[in-house]
Amino acid sequence: MPPIQTIAFDADDTLWVNETIFTQTQEHFTDIIRPYVRAEELGSQLDQTQIRNLSLFGYGIKGFMLSMIETGLELSDYRLPGTHIQQLLELGKEMLQHPVQLLPHVEETIRQLEGEYPLMIITKGDLFDQESKIARSGLADYFSSIEIVSEKNQETYRRLLRKHSLSAEAFLMVGNSLKSDVLPVCQLGGHAVHIPFHTTWVHEQLTPCQLEGYGYQELENMSQLPAYLQQL
Ligand SMILES: [Mg+2]
Repeated sequence: MPPIQTIAFDADDTLWVNETIFTQTQEHFTDIIRPYVRAEELGSQLDQTQIRNLSLFGYGIKGFMLSMIETGLELSDYRLPGTHIQQLLELGKEMLQHPVQLLPHVEETIRQLEGEYPLMIITKGDLFDQESKIARSGLADYFSSIEIVSEKNQETYRRLLRKHSLSAEAFLMVGNSLKSDVLPVCQLGGHAVHIPFHTTWVHEQLTPCQLEGYGYQELENMSQLPAYLQQL
């Protein structure tokens, strides 16, 4: 096998905190709609609405805002007042302006690897929001290319490898999602490193049997990546 020639990183929950912001907002959402909803109906409805709307809105905060409003209206039997809908919009705006919090060891690892490998970011979500986070992260200059895509599946990776004239065998993807960062890359014959984040959105979860037979490396955190690359 040829050595790794390019390393690509997922962004949300790999380079910086993301899911935590969604989880916290979800708690505020529940508090806002609670007076209008029967207790037994307060549950996973927002996740279900979000997943149902993915094919229309794509990933990202703006779609999440619309899904919060839709869920609030449905669960309250359309009694949720306009002032509360405004509060839901404010929650979304706060998410869009949330400070970018880098995960442990990310900055020094990226800085160390940048001289040795071309580095890429491959992330999905709102173009505008992702561009803004990359700019605010202070990491943009370390990456030779940044790809913001609407979905991360085999076809996406195949297209990106072709676009950048890369072979799968010399490509390594690093990310927190087995579904989006690991499995499709392994299926194409590439390398993948999984660095789990402490929470994973239900839509990104896989069952262990879906991963059976695919060789990928699991690391605890980003500081272990250079040593892993050395022994490849
Ligand atoms: Mg991620």
